[in-house]
Amino acid sequence: MQVHLVHSGDHLLPSLNRKLGEYGAQTLKERGLKLVLNQRVKSITANRVYLESGSIIETNTVISTVGNAPHPLVTALGAECAFEMRKGCIVTESTGQVKGQTHLWAMGDCAAFPAVAGGDCPNTAQFAFRQGALVGRNIARTMRQQKPRPIRFKGLGEIASIGHHVAVADILGVQFSGFFAWWLWRSVYLLKLPRFDRKIRVMLDWTLDLFFPRDLNHLSPRFSKSVNESHLESGDRLFHKGEPAFSFYIVKSGALEILDGDEIIQRITAGGYFGEQALLEGGIGSYDARAIEPTDLASVPASIFHQLARGGGSLGHFFQKSAAKYQSQEIVEAIGRKIDPNVAAQPISLFMERKLHTLSPGMMIRETLQVIRDHPRSSYPVVGAGEKLLGLMRREDFYEFLKRPDTRAETPMANMTFTSVPAVSADTTVGDVMKCFIRSGSNKVLVVDGDNRLQGIATVMDLFTAGTGGAGQNKQ
Ligand SMILES: Cc1cc2nc3c(=O)[nH]c(=O)nc-3n(C[C@H](O)[C@H](O)[C@H](O)COP(=O)(O)OP(=O)(O)OC[C@H]3O[C@@H](n4cnc5c(N)ncnc54)[C@H](O)[C@@H]3O)c2cc1C
Repeated sequence: MQVHLVHSGDHLLPSLNRKLGEYGAQTLKERGLKLVLNQRVKSITANRVYLESGSIIETNTVISTVGNAPHPLVTALGAECAFEMRKGCIVTESTGQVKGQTHLWAMGDCAAFPAVAGGDCPNTAQFAFRQGALVGRNIARTMRQQKPRPIRFKGLGEIASIGHHVAVADILGVQFSGFFAWWLWRSVYLLKLPRFDRKIRVMLDWTLDLFFPRDLNHLSPRFSKSVNESHLESGDRLFHKGEPAFSFYIVKSGALEILDGDEIIQRITAGGYFGEQALLEGGIGSYDARAIEPTDLASVPASIFHQLARGGGSLGHFFQKSAAKYQSQEIVEAIGRKIDPNVAAQPISLFMERKLHTLSPGMMIRETLQVIRDHPRSSYPVVGAGEKLLGLMRREDFYEFLKRPDTRAETPMANMTFTSVPAVSADTTVGDVMKCFIRSGSNKVLVVDGDNRLQGIATVMDLFTAGTGGAGQNKQ
């Protein structure tokens, strides 16, 4: 086994001085580590590490200890508020006040906080602690109309463990290394631990470590699944408007409603999906989701959804397009205003198509093909006994159904899953039907009577043409 340590600087531990860094490097070399200095890693594959110099290290195990960046929330906040930023951190005065502000404060890892000796304070706990206390006092001083004070803390020094009970230290300008430095390093951590009982437990554990070999454990991690499953009972809310969005959902069975207050935006049945809009547009849900019957869902966590959607290509485009169908109330109203108010106030019964070519679940595939041949349409309403509406059959879904190995010419249509489209009553106004189109993402509505019997069909094209003074025709 070989261990390679790749480091971009010309000596290890750059936050300590060069002598201590070189001591650390020499100790690691004596233990058999191969040091690769002044080099950066360009890429990592399952069995190779590629360096910028072009050299390659063959390996199956890579441990990355590259530094971490400020939280994206801090960077985004800074950009939104037009704060002065440095390396993703909010630049402050030496008092902790955000540069150019008197009542906004930043400290710790999210702040570029000026150091006494020039430059910025390092992002370490000892500085974060002092900055926190200073800012607390400065806020109190500001409230008392007193001048806030600048930071005076210069740092106590640095200690770094290099393993095997050896550390290097630079404390208040005194540099030392070896077992004592390591003991001091551990003691500092022990002192910082909260609660006395915890300090004792950890101290005993560390003391025993000195006399016994390493305590090795074989871990068998259970990796989290990339698709989770959940079940809702009728009336259960999956999420509420304004909540953070965690997943993209696919309905395996049952049905849910997407609601804006009491208004139903969309009804999603088996095979349908939702949640993409909240994930793509800010991560906060704009609607409620409630099961209307016992429902099984598959949910894809946000991180995986983003990998799929942002991977570019057609999948990303598909989700963007699909997210756009959930329009806000303001957008719906703006589109509604384009419709002639006289037309908007009229009932849909005046504009709907009454001559319909319907299918029924009892029909065989052969008969359905005949209807499609004689009356080519993109979709056909499906009605059951007493002309009651069951759903809509899209031609593309029908072709998919034909491809199934068990589909025969005699297979009944009842074996197919029909799409649900919004249904409205004949007296619904054109304006309300337009809103229904926009909010549901559907380009047609089925018109039914009080007993859910099919009366007609209206398409977005017909209504928009009629409503904007085009060549729409009154179909009564
Ligand atoms: C691996 C590692 C080792 C380190 N070793 C040392 C060391 O040996 N010595 C040393 O001095 N420093 C060390 N540091 C640095 C030190 O930990 C940080 O500088 C210090 O913790 C910064 O304090 P902070 O209060 O600014 O941020 P943090 O301690 O990171 O506290 C931020 C808090 O905000 C919370 N938070 C984040 N997002 C949100 C949100 N949206 N809403 C609400 N809360 C939120 C987090 O959960 C966290 O509790 C180390 C850091 C790392 C990562």
